[in-house]
This record gives sequence, structure tokens and C-alpha cells, in this order.
Amino acid sequence: MPIMKMILMVCVSAVLWAGPAGAAGYPLRIKVSPGAKAAVVHELPSPEERVSGYDAVLLNGELPDPAVKLRVAGRDPYASETFPGGRFWAKYRVSAGEPLTVTVLGAAAASEHVVVIYGADLISGAGREGAAAAPYGPEGTKAVFFPVVWRAAWGAAPVSGYTWQTPRKFTLHHTAGPRPADRAAAEAEMRFIQSQHRNGNGWLDIGYHFVISPQGDIFEGRPVNAQGAHAQNYNVDNVGISVMGNYMNDPVAPQVLDAIVRLGQYLKADFGIGEGAFFAHRQLNSTACPGDNIYARMQELRDRIFRGPVPAEAFRGVGADPSFGGAAAGGQGALGQLLGAASVLE
Ligand SMILES: [Zn+2]
Repeated sequence: MPIMKMILMVCVSAVLWAGPAGAAGYPLRIKVSPGAKAAVVHELPSPEERVSGYDAVLLNGELPDPAVKLRVAGRDPYASETFPGGRFWAKYRVSAGEPLTVTVLGAAAASEHVVVIYGADLISGAGREGAAAAPYGPEGTKAVFFPVVWRAAWGAAPVSGYTWQTPRKFTLHHTAGPRPADRAAAEAEMRFIQSQHRNGNGWLDIGYHFVISPQGDIFEGRPVNAQGAHAQNYNVDNVGISVMGNYMNDPVAPQVLDAIVRLGQYLKADFGIGEGAFFAHRQLNSTACPGDNIYARMQELRDRIFRGPVPAEAFRGVGADPSFGGAAAGGQGALGQLLGAASVLE
């Protein structure tokens, strides 16, 4: 997830579960009942604890009932988007130094239910990612040797204007969001994350290069040779890999670890990235990302990526994205590239 500062919890009766102390307290689960009074359920860091340069708060979570509203510092959002099922992001204009309370207005709720807040970021509403330089193109991109859910398959909005990079390091994240139950839900979450990063954070595209679902599916984010937006001040030549879920508490599935290893082996083989250039986000920025439960597996991941065997199924590729200069998914044209990629490995 993008860098986020520690959150000061305000525990009120409306909060069902606030997560472990000192772990930013997400996700917040708030029970809402018809006729309930407005309740302050959350408070962002006091002014002296905040990063400077923000003028907006970006919330994301689940608001299943459109009659229920969230306010920050007493204000309604100036921009927001809600996906099917209530997955939402919303941006609120705020002033430096004012208290940043989050209020739930649930009086008009149709029935008792739970509102979830997965995270709250202090952002510059205009966005921080600089204007990009080059058109989208296949230059420098590579075919991969494992199944990837390409952008077209998950319904990515088209993007152009990337700044190109040469991958020289990679960084592990968690989304600090939900863990989708199946492939369709994971595809929907990809569309949500892209929307939040583009229209909420104001970035060019989804910030990550790859996102892994709880089922172990690997989703394409930005092209691997396009500069990402996932580790503030460390984005140049840095490939961002994120896992759907909040791994301060969520258990790490074996297929998720396998997917991280597969991506790591690809980055090592195709770009010569070494062990010293593999990071957890918290090693670069002040953040809990990628969560304690993934962070605890970093040494195991290093061992498998840089010293372990390459799994046989890694070579059972399904094809490359046409925009990467390969054939369509499953097409014969990609196989030569797959073999080429495979031959790079030991
Ligand atoms: Zn992160």
C-alpha cells in the first residue's frame, strides 16, 4: 500500500474491532443501525504527527448501503467512486492543522450492517506523480514464463504516458484491503485499486507492477518497465509487488508465497536483480506494509528466490500480453519467448 502514517484510534462503541495496537488499527469495522446517531468512529493523527504537504484525506473501504455516509472533518467528499457491493474510495478536502475526525451518518440505513474502513491516507489532492514522458510501448518489456492475468483480462482502464525504467530492485507490499474470495472478486478489486490510485491518489495508473490474489493469481499492474508509484522516494527502477489483504492479521497462504517466489525468480532471471535489492516496503518508508505476517517470511522468500529450485510449473506459461510484443494469451507465438525466458534460468 502507499505510505501511510500511524493512525490514532478513538475507540467508541460503534467500532467492532480495531486490530492490534500500534498497527494502524485497520480494518475498522463499524456496526451501523437504522436510526443511529452520527458517531465519530476514527481520528487521523494529530497535526504534529502528520506528514506535511497534504490537503486531502483519501478513505477506502466498504459502504454497502448508499444511504450511509462518511464525513471527514465534518465534510462530505469532493470526489468518490463506489463499485458494486459498496467497495468505495472517497476524497475529502482538509486543512493542515485541523482535527481529522471520521464520522459515520447511519440514521438512514435500511438495516443493521457493517461498514468497513480499510485505510485512510493523507494526500495532496492534486496528486504527486509527475507528468510522464513517453508513450506506452513494448520497448524493453519481456515475455514471462508463468500465468499472468493481464490488464485486458481484468478490465484495466487504458493508460498512456508512462515514465520508463529499467527494473533494478523490487519491493513487497500488501494492499491493506480485503481478501477477495475468488478470481472474479479479485478482478473487481483490481479495477477498484486502479480507480483509487488514478482518481483518488491522482496517480497515472495503478501504483503496483504486480498484484497477487489470495488464490495465488498474479495480476499485471503497470508494465514492469514503467516507473511505479508504491514506495515514496524509492520508485525509480523499483518493481512493486502487492498482495491483496491486510497481513498485520491475515494469514499468508502458501500459494501467495509461491507467487511471490515466481515473480522474484522472473525479476532475477530477466533483469539480473540480486538479493540485496529485494525489499519489504517498511524497509524503505515509515509504514507497517507489507504487514507483520508477510514480513516474517522475508528470509524464507529470499532463500527460495535466490537459492531455491525453480518450480517446474514456472515454465508452463500461458503467453504474453500482445502489447509486450508477444502473442495473445495462449497463442503459439508466445511459446518461443517462453522458452527463451526459461533458458535464462539455471
Ligand atoms: Zn506498501
